[in-house]
Amino acid sequence: MQIFRDKVFIALAGLFLVLISVYLWYIQQQKELLQTSVYTKESRYMREKVQDLINAKQKGMMAVAIAISHDNKIKEILKTKSIDVKHFQAISEDIKEHTVFKNVWLQLIDVNGISLFRSWSSLYGDNLKLKRKDISFVSKKRTPIMSISSDKYDLSIKALVPIIEKNKILGELEVITHFNSISRALKKSGIESIVLLNKYYTKQLEYPFSKNFLGEFYIANLDVSKKLLNNFKNIYIDHFLKQNNNYYIKKGYLLVKYPLQNYKNETIGSFLMLKPLTEISDKEIKTFTWQSIGIGIIVLLLLFGLIHIFFFFKVQREKRYYKKILDASNNMFVITNGEEIIDVNQSFYYYFKQYSSLEEFTRKHSCVCDFFVKENGYLQTNTDGINWIEFVIKQKDKSYIVKMNIEGKIYYFKITGKLVSVKPREYVTVFADITTEEEYRLELEYQSIIDPLTGIYNRRYFERKISEEITRCERYEMVFSLIMLDIDFFKRINDTYGHDVGDKVLQSHSALILENLRESDILCRVGGEEFMIILPQTTQEQAYYKAEDLRKKVQNEQDMHLQITMSFGVAQFHKADTYETLYKRVDTALYKAKESGRNKVAVL
Ligand code: GH3
Ligand code: MG
Ligand code: MG
Repeated sequence: MQIFRDKVFIALAGLFLVLISVYLWYIQQQKELLQTSVYTKESRYMREKVQDLINAKQKGMMAVAIAISHDNKIKEILKTKSIDVKHFQAISEDIKEHTVFKNVWLQLIDVNGISLFRSWSSLYGDNLKLKRKDISFVSKKRTPIMSISSDKYDLSIKALVPIIEKNKILGELEVITHFNSISRALKKSGIESIVLLNKYYTKQLEYPFSKNFLGEFYIANLDVSKKLLNNFKNIYIDHFLKQNNNYYIKKGYLLVKYPLQNYKNETIGSFLMLKPLTEISDKEIKTFTWQSIGIGIIVLLLLFGLIHIFFFFKVQREKRYYKKILDASNNMFVITNGEEIIDVNQSFYYYFKQYSSLEEFTRKHSCVCDFFVKENGYLQTNTDGINWIEFVIKQKDKSYIVKMNIEGKIYYFKITGKLVSVKPREYVTVFADITTEEEYRLELEYQSIIDPLTGIYNRRYFERKISEEITRCERYEMVFSLIMLDIDFFKRINDTYGHDVGDKVLQSHSALILENLRESDILCRVGGEEFMIILPQTTQEQAYYKAEDLRKKVQNEQDMHLQITMSFGVAQFHKADTYETLYKRVDTALYKAKESGRNKVAVL
């Protein structure tokens, strides 16, 4: 049973470990999925944000460009090709002062694609049409375009508008701005930006404005920190930019790219956003983790509870099962903690009929030992100061018999006991009813030592007792005496009155002798009309007086009008005596009493 329990326990523990592992693995998977979803959401938000910022900027630039394109003075300049720098400076100042665009550059291009004026450089007169397809596109389509493009100087946001007069194209005006305001705005949301121009276009730069590079890529914004650049300088940017991933995790940052496209929707660069992972809210993941742990603990507790209940009922069932077995037994089972009775089986009530429940019994008695009969040869409530249960358990190989008096009826039980639990201390004691056998044994024993005619001890008993007495007196150097007595002329009584009368004389005279003896004296019939008295702790002198007293009593007894006398031999036990020598001496003493005329006491 124990081995089975252990196996079940190991199997359950194993099952729990597997369940917990699977659950933890599941939580980990879910967390990773959640993390991916958080990053995906964040990257979408970042892309939308940069898109909005770029769009807003482009639209603002377009408004400025369209407004300036209607300026007659500009048209005049295009027609005459005489540049009025002050006029452009005035326009730039106006834009700076009255709009949100603080860094705006202007370029005026004539109908042939020749740059007439650059607000950021004194260079002019170069033909842009060779490298700038957008300029031909605008003059051909006569429509303004918003774009991101790169030139000899930079990667920038541009609004290019045709300048038309009377249906005739005079030239184009370009309004240019950088990405710095966008990267500044993103920085406020905790996002770092690196605006990158593709390798191919980087090669075409003649006067790179920021002078910053990341590998072979030109960096168009000015506010990239050196620390960030150092951190990412060894990253294979090319590889990342080509990948289709929504985001990329590197060096504690969430990297998100937004393609920068020219008027033909060709990607010419990338707006790279970097957000520290620590800045990304992990509230959702934390909530999920705690919820999962909470649910896990609740489920675990429920499982433990269920298992507990299962085992509780199993134990209850087992208890009921064993109780039934115990109840089916004829033996009385008493479970006790040494002081109080805890449980009993049904047989208990067969013997203690007057109690209908254990409560009723325990109200009056705390122990079945209350019913033990104090008698030699039977188990006592206390033996040498040891409680009966402890005593029974200690002497395992011996069996003990207890005599019980239950409501006036005598029972004999063979008791066995076992300690079934150490903490709390619990014993089970089994009372096997051996009343019939014990009574039979007692009867046999009685018959073997009692003379049936007179009811006093027989010769066998005498021989047993005298040996015991000799041993005792040898060991403790004590004395005892023997009186041997014999009815005088008994043959005559038999012959005269018949055998039956002789029997009656034997009965009445053994009773008469017995009446006049002490409790400790032992009277035995050792022959037909011969008796022995063992007198413990009695000297031959005391024995002599006793014999003399008995002799007189017999002589004075008028039984059935018969005059009966007896002769007595007295002998004391001496150190050197054996049974034989002592017997011989007392027998000789009796012979002497007979010889000297009968109805006498002789001492030897
Ligand atoms: P003494 O004075 O020398 O002892 O003479 P006695 O006749 O008593 O001695 P004896 O030993 O010759 O006789 C004993 C008789 O006791 C013999 C026998 O018939 C008788 N007797 C022995 N046992 C019983 C018995 O159980 N019942 C009866 N009625 N008589 C018995
Ligand atoms: Mg005789
Ligand atoms: Mg005789």
